[in-house]
Amino acid sequence: MSILEVKDLEVSFAVGSMLNRGALLGVAGVSFDVKAGETFALVGESGSGKTTLARAVNGLQQISAGSVTFDGQRIDGLGVREMKPLRRTMSMMFQDPIGSLSPRMKVGDLVTEAYRIHGVKADMKAETERLLSLVGLNMDFADRFPHQLSGGQARRVGVARAIALDPKLVIADEPTAGLDVSVQGEVLNLLNDLRERLGLAMIIITHNLHVVHHVADRMAVMYLGRFIESGPTEEVFAAPAHPYSAALLSANPEPDPDKAKNRIALPAEVPSLLSRPSGCEFHTRCPWAQEMCSRKAPEAVNVGDRRVACHFPLEQGASPPVKAEVS
Ligand code: SF4
Repeated sequence: MSILEVKDLEVSFAVGSMLNRGALLGVAGVSFDVKAGETFALVGESGSGKTTLARAVNGLQQISAGSVTFDGQRIDGLGVREMKPLRRTMSMMFQDPIGSLSPRMKVGDLVTEAYRIHGVKADMKAETERLLSLVGLNMDFADRFPHQLSGGQARRVGVARAIALDPKLVIADEPTAGLDVSVQGEVLNLLNDLRERLGLAMIIITHNLHVVHHVADRMAVMYLGRFIESGPTEEVFAAPAHPYSAALLSANPEPDPDKAKNRIALPAEVPSLLSRPSGCEFHTRCPWAQEMCSRKAPEAVNVGDRRVACHFPLEQGASPPVKAEVS
């Protein structure tokens, strides 16, 4: 059963001066759902719209079209006061593990802050102990301030805060950013473990494809605010069908040298949202682009269990065409 359904969601931003006002689309009509106990990953380069989309889902960003249904209730358009009770059941983990914690609060108060915000009566000492234990920390940490924590410990405190009031959905923005590789694995295992034990649904926003492969059941690759490929993570990783997904995956360092892939270099800069390319918006960078790509925007088509927005989805293991040398 879907805990979250997003349909044709758009987010636009006003740009320009009083005399010359315009709008740019940060998120350009995306649809997806997340089921209870499932992790859905949003992937893409900086500026692809993934954080804007997550903020729109969470009610932190106003949407200009479409709908967001959470736990059976339409929540787009709700005001701050109406959203407040929903924040118990839909929590957000912010990117900076230490910077997202108030420096003047002790860990014990930080992990139980949601109880006070929402007026939930509980034995705070017992709840602190329960939450710290869920994220692998002991009660010695309750009296520490954020600056006395390592990045990994601060991230665990962030996770404890996010799960404090038994949410149904957690949105995690770059959950491993700024952490050492060894600690990243610990945090990902913790998130996987909690999802299974608590039946959480999760949305992970990241540009780190190792994170996606480690935790996500399904994923969506975003480009200029659109989903260009979405579906089961294993399918996308095994045989990316959109050239942009293939390029992102080819740039993902592969620990096994026998499986190392040929890197697909993307030639041009990411276009500005203010001047979206015609036709397929990826055609200015696509090694497979053909003449029609600059004229006609591709419809999303089914490739296996995925949706792929490309006129010429790639076959498994496709290499980019070799361009003729210009003499
Ligand atoms: Fe490349 Fe054309 Fe597919 Fe766009 S539609 S991704 S330009 S092949």
